This record gives sequence, structure tokens and C-alpha cells, in this order.
Amino acid sequence: MDKIIEGIRRFRRDTYPQLKPLYDDLVKSGQKPHALVIGCSDSRIAFETLTGCGPGELFIVRNAGNIIPQYGKYMGGVTASIEFAIERLPIRDVIVCGHTYCGAMAALLRPESAEDMPAVQKWISFARQAKRRIGKEHTAVFDNHLREAVAENVKLQLEHLRTYPCIQKGMNAGSIRLHGWVYEIENGDVVSYDEGGNRWLSLTEPEEPKRDVSGRYRPVE
Ligand SMILES: [Zn+2]
Repeated sequence: MDKIIEGIRRFRRDTYPQLKPLYDDLVKSGQKPHALVIGCSDSRIAFETLTGCGPGELFIVRNAGNIIPQYGKYMGGVTASIEFAIERLPIRDVIVCGHTYCGAMAALLRPESAEDMPAVQKWISFARQAKRRIGKEHTAVFDNHLREAVAENVKLQLEHLRTYPCIQKGMNAGSIRLHGWVYEIENGDVVSYDEGGNRWLSLTEPEEPKRDVSGRYRPVE
């Protein structure tokens, strides 16, 4: 805790004064984020650091495995947060962001590792279809299999997102765009799902696609 409290002291002393006009404006006119991010709770992902965004710019919903239960099938905090963001905030882009080395996806592939966590088991059941789609482990390298599960899960959760009436409304009106991302912890890159080409493209090296058309990643380096 010492580190965290010291961080807050430093924030209030050094950072907050610089951001005061921004916070004043955010208090006065309310938040107006244009992006909704649904990401994993994993501590290794810092969305503001990753995107260079500041206060008021990202509306973020996080949970184990960046899972979005189908609308109506499970109404909880994730459902409510997404619905609020779409109905009340000027959201234009919705990003579902998974990440490499995801513990939730590892538990999906190896259920025995989550035997003592019934809530985790129940929660990741909303990703079960992703496991079915990638099929059996076809490689001796678990990390590669895990990468496939991470990618397939992002695609699946985008499908679940489309079951939301507010998302359907926004997409029909052309006011909302959906994005599927995977953050690669090991190299700092983010790959984005290209639905038309069924492939993953680097957001930082757009001129040089490194993923094949099957949607699989380059091998672990
Ligand atoms: Zn994760």
C-alpha cells in the first residue's frame, strides 16, 4: 500500500495541478469519451499508458478474459456499463481488447487449473465457444494454442456485443464502429482484427502485415 499511497500524494502534488483545467472542465460539462474499451483485468495492461489517452477519454470496462455475455443471457455489471456508455455517452468506437498470456484464456483451455474457482469457471463459460472453434491443441507449444484462444475469444465477444440492442441501433445508424484488438505484452504491439480479410494486422506496422490470413499470429519469438 505504501507505494500506492505515495503515488496518490505525488499525483496530487505534481500531476493534478497540471490537469486542473481539464478536470474542472470534466466536472463542469461531464465526461464525453468517444471510445469504450472492454478489456481484461490483467494488471499488465495499462490502457491509458498504451494509448496515450488521459482522463475523460476512455470509458473502460474490465473483467477476467474481456468477456461480454450475450445480452439477456446474463445481465450484470458488464451489461449495464456497456449499455450506459452507448446510451448516454458520445461513444463512436467500441474496442474489445484481449491480450497475450491471458490467465482467463489459459483457464478456458485447462479447466483443471480453475477447479477451485467456481465463479471463474462460470464466467469463462461465456468464452467456451472460442475454445470449440479453435479445436484441439494442434501444437506442442501451449503458448501458440493460448494465442489462438485469445484471438478467437476477441472475435466471439464481438459477436456477443452485437446482441446488445443499443449496439445494433448504433451500428444500423452508422454511429458506432466495433474493433477487436489483442495487446501483445511481449513486444508492445497491438493487432487489430480485419474482419473482411479474416486476419490480424499490426496497428504499429500497417505496411507489413505479420499475421497470416488464417488469423493466427506469427510464432512466438
Ligand atoms: Zn487476461
